[in-house]
Amino acid sequence: MSMPFFAAAAAALALVSAPLPASQAEAQALELLKRGIAYRSVAGPGNQTPAYAAYLKSVLVAGGFADGDVEIVAMGDTAYLVARYRGTGKAKNGAKPLLISGHMDVVEAKPADWTRDPFTAVVENGYIFGRGATDMKYDISTMVATLIDLKRSGFRPGRDIVLLLSGDEETAMKTTAAMADRFPDAEMLLNIDGGGGGLDEAGKPTTFGIDGAEKTYADYELTVTNAGGHSSAPRKDNAIYALAHALAKIEAHSFPGQVDAITRASWEAAAKEATPERAAVIRRFVANPQDAEALALLRGDPATVGQTGTTCVATMVSAGHATNALPQRATANVNCRIFPGTPVEAVRATLAQVVGDPTVQIRTLDSGSVASPASPLRPDVMQAVTKAVQARFPGVPVVPAMSAGASDSMWFRAKGIPSYGVSPKFMKDSDSFSHGLNERTPLSEIAPSITYYRSLLTALAG
Ligand SMILES: [Zn+2]
Repeated sequence: MSMPFFAAAAAALALVSAPLPASQAEAQALELLKRGIAYRSVAGPGNQTPAYAAYLKSVLVAGGFADGDVEIVAMGDTAYLVARYRGTGKAKNGAKPLLISGHMDVVEAKPADWTRDPFTAVVENGYIFGRGATDMKYDISTMVATLIDLKRSGFRPGRDIVLLLSGDEETAMKTTAAMADRFPDAEMLLNIDGGGGGLDEAGKPTTFGIDGAEKTYADYELTVTNAGGHSSAPRKDNAIYALAHALAKIEAHSFPGQVDAITRASWEAAAKEATPERAAVIRRFVANPQDAEALALLRGDPATVGQTGTTCVATMVSAGHATNALPQRATANVNCRIFPGTPVEAVRATLAQVVGDPTVQIRTLDSGSVASPASPLRPDVMQAVTKAVQARFPGVPVVPAMSAGASDSMWFRAKGIPSYGVSPKFMKDSDSFSHGLNERTPLSEIAPSITYYRSLLTALAG
């Protein structure tokens, strides 16, 4: 036995087991993410979104963007950022810009409630912890690093790629609305804060969802007023009883079952994974959304009720002013999640009809939401996303989805711009802490995110 043999074997082993050097883009994404988490980009006093935007601009300019192509626009205590990656203007189907959207702001995080400081990035056991680690400084960092990497490699897209980072997505969405006004002629929008892949608890990929639609959020306030009086002399007309009867009627009302191209595709994918009995129910519903039995079964399950049509539910009540007085006022809030294509006013009219009592006033509250139509399932988008996803996980189904929550896409869809939620991250349910405590994301998503973005952008920006 000779020492050189062992030395050589040991050296070879060391080469194999040493971690591969991270690519320049990967290292930059991690740096952006660590520094990004440190900005307390929370709405209200001390909001550091403008400072975070200034930092991102400095990185983009250092990475090859012209100073004049990265604009920061201040709005109230926040700001939005527009960065234009100039193309040749020779894209096949015209040179309308490809928009990419994300948001720089994060949900409030109270350091006292967290195990680690939410505004200091902490890397532990392969995860990065911090507010925004998932939602969504991770995705901003990998996207910015990808754009700079594309610049470095000399890539010239056929159309302009415009990165739009909003500054109040988690609250008022005024910056998003302002940006949507500026790009009425865009080809499409890719929202990197929606959609994405799922992993089961063993780490095996399940599906990848493309958000092509979202329900409209709406609040309706029901008010009954009454002259009131002494509770020792009750009358038939009573504000609390009138409101209670109105709410009971709304509870009993079932909005019609609805299916569109997006939800049909999601249901068909769900049926493939479901038990035979469940699959039969889904197929009956898709064939006839008014099939009362199938509709009732799907509406009995919180996991599927939101996908079956418009839903409304009472969320708050307030009534009376003294324990010994007849109520002079009773109000309730009814929160609705409206199926795309149905106007907010139409739902208000339906509620008024269901209640059938002119003493109950129903008014739509301004919740900062707008109705938005479902985006068409464009073959070019489906193909580009499927290719990018399946390069990593061959055979994983890519399924269109309707989101029950509001996103920046709403403002662009409302302007007629097809918008798709296409975040590259594959996550386990047990790693989902967006908006919650100890938000974290595995660092292992950084490299695949960059590869995915490169594939998607080169395909769609030509
Ligand atoms: Zn988000």
